Amino acid sequence: MEIKEYVAMRKAQIRDEVASMKIKPHLAIVQVNEDEGSNSYIRGKLRDAEELGVLATHIKLPLDTSEEETLRVVESLNNNPEIHGFIVQVPLPKQIGEDKVKVAINPKKDVDGFHPLSSLKACTPRGILDYLRFEKIDLLGENAVVIGRSNIVGKPMAALLTKESANVTVLHSKTKPEDMKFYLEHADIIIAAIGKKWMIDGYHFKESAVIIDVGINRVDGALYGDVKPGQKVRLQTPVPGGVGPLTRLALYENLMEIMKHGI
Ligand code: NAP
Repeated sequence: MEIKEYVAMRKAQIRDEVASMKIKPHLAIVQVNEDEGSNSYIRGKLRDAEELGVLATHIKLPLDTSEEETLRVVESLNNNPEIHGFIVQVPLPKQIGEDKVKVAINPKKDVDGFHPLSSLKACTPRGILDYLRFEKIDLLGENAVVIGRSNIVGKPMAALLTKESANVTVLHSKTKPEDMKFYLEHADIIIAAIGKKWMIDGYHFKESAVIIDVGINRVDGALYGDVKPGQKVRLQTPVPGGVGPLTRLALYENLMEIMKHGI
C-alpha cells in the first residue's frame, strides 16, 4: 500500500477510536523558537489533531524564556492530569539545555519517545517500523543498513531493528566509500538518515531491497531525499510524502498507546 493510503487508513481507525473514547486524548506542544521549519511541523501536528478529534494545546513561549521557566512549564505539564502527552519542539534557544528539558519530561507523557526511560518509541523509527510491519517486510535475519547515527533517527532505528532480529550495520560519515558500497549492495533493508540531497546513488542494490529514505533536504524551496529517486529495488519511499507522514502518524500512535495502557 502507498504510504499516503496507509496513513489515511490508520488515521481513520484512530479517529474512530477517539470518537468512542469518553476522555479525549490531549496533546500539548511547547514551542520556544521562531523557526519556520518548526512552525510548519507544528501546523501539521495541529491539523492532524483536529482531523483525529484529539485535543491539542500549543504553548508558545517568548524566545528569551529562561531554562528555569521552560522547566517549570514542563513540570506543570507533567503534573497536569488533563494533558496525556506533550512535546517540546526543537530547536530551543541557546540558554535552554535540550538534554535537560528532554529528561525533565515525564517518560509516561513523552510522546516523542526521546526520554532515555521512555517506553514509547521515537516517532520516526516507530513510524518506519509500523509501516514495514504492515507491509509484511521480513526483518528477522535480514541485512539492515542504517546510514546515520543521530540520537533521534539513526541510533533508535538501529536499536529497533536489532530488537526485530535484523543483522544491523550502522554507517556514518567516517565509513570508507568501499565499505559503504559493500554494505549497501548486500543490504535487504536500507534506512538513509543523512541529510544530503540524493547522496545515495550509483549502487547495485539487490532488486529485492527496501529503501526507506528519511532525509528531508530543502534545496531552492523544493524537498529532496537522501536517495536519488528511481532506484531498481522492491520499494523506495518517496520524499516528500514518505517518512514525514509516517513520523507524524507515529506521534498519535504513541499518544493512543498512553491512553490505552497508561504506559
Ligand atoms: P544528523 O543529526 O545531522 O545526522 C546525520 C547523520 O548522517 C550523522 O550520523 C552523520 O555521520 C551521517 N552522515 C553525514 N554525512 C555522511 C556521509 N557522507 N556518509 C555517511 N553518513 C553521513 O541528522 P538527523 O537528525 O539524523 O536527520 C537526518 C535527515 O533526516 C535530515 O535530512 C533530517 O531533516 C531528516 N529527518 C527526517 C524526519 C522525517 O520525519 N522524515 C525526521 C527526522 C529527521 P556522523 O555521525 O559521522 O557525523
